[in-house]
Amino acid sequence: MIPCQACGNQNPIGTRFCRSCGERIAVVKVDQLAAAVRDDQVTVASHRRLEGGRSLLLVGLFLLVCALVLRYAVVPSLPVADVPPLPAGELLPP
Ligand SMILES: [Zn+2]
Repeated sequence: MIPCQACGNQNPIGTRFCRSCGERIAVVKVDQLAAAVRDDQVTVASHRRLEGGRSLLLVGLFLLVCALVLRYAVVPSLPVADVPPLPAGELLPP
């Protein structure tokens, strides 16, 4: 099917004039078709790059969650040092 440039109506291949509005159907040239294919390939390549970045982000997030689980669930926290408080004026120079 060939879309009409004026109204967008889908016309059968080989139609010279639109069956809806009567506008002449533009002939698709080979270089236009090649440019459309090239644009589509660029879009696919950028989409793959985006997917790669997204999976890298997910791996980083997974590693962060694993590190937090190891830090707070597996490894016990250290005891707080029990130091007696200094009397007032102890640290001041004489
Ligand atoms: Zn039309």
